[in-house]
Amino acid sequence: MPKIMGNEIEESSMFGRFGPTPFDIRFQLIGIPVIVHPAFWLLAAMFSWREQRLDLTMVGMICIFVSILVHEMGHAILQRKWGEVLDIQLHLFGGAASFIPGPGYTPLRSILVSLAGPAFGFILAGIALLVQWGAPRIDPIYEFLISDQRYEQYFMVSTSILIFLNIVWGIFNLLPLPPLDGGHVSMDVCKLISRRNGEIWAYRIAIVTAGLVILYIAKFAPHYRLVVLWCLLLGYQNWQALNQRTGKNW
Ligand SMILES: [Zn+2]
Repeated sequence: MPKIMGNEIEESSMFGRFGPTPFDIRFQLIGIPVIVHPAFWLLAAMFSWREQRLDLTMVGMICIFVSILVHEMGHAILQRKWGEVLDIQLHLFGGAASFIPGPGYTPLRSILVSLAGPAFGFILAGIALLVQWGAPRIDPIYEFLISDQRYEQYFMVSTSILIFLNIVWGIFNLLPLPPLDGGHVSMDVCKLISRRNGEIWAYRIAIVTAGLVILYIAKFAPHYRLVVLWCLLLGYQNWQALNQRTGKNW
């Protein structure tokens, strides 16, 4: 989610960069530095919590870690082609890939960088779906899975989370709502169409999208309260940005 324009850092998240702590986990993945903030594990635990099943909670946390990392790697791998990648940070609000764009970073490339995150997530979901379907059809794996009820459970839970999470998170991320990935795309496209008013139109599209998603959820999926909360927050942010940009109320 945040990126750097011009010579400032562009980030794929709205929360900026997080300072170092003594509990950070740091490693490199194909040459890209990854920093896992301790608060990330809080987020992962919150979404995977299963009372009296610490083992399944751990399975869920690992799946969330892998999913967010793969999503951010999607951004970072393309960013590396057209700029200098600083790092990927996983934190309380998800993740962010930060980089300094080089001179060849065109709006079209910016769009590709934004789309790469959800695209990597969809590929991961596809692989998980294939594994869930195919692995139990291979005799030695099947024998192993049925040898202990827990193994079968871990297998089904992990593949199901990877499929569900990456599809839902990918679709949500593609909404034209800055600073989501789809919001970056919408902003780039609007600016390409109108250099003068593109930004204003991107904010307007974002506010309408947030409203429509909230209405849809209220009518068809009322238990997704968290999505409503997110859309309220993002809609409000875009409303503020629009007012700031135009100097008046819409
Ligand atoms: Zn993203």
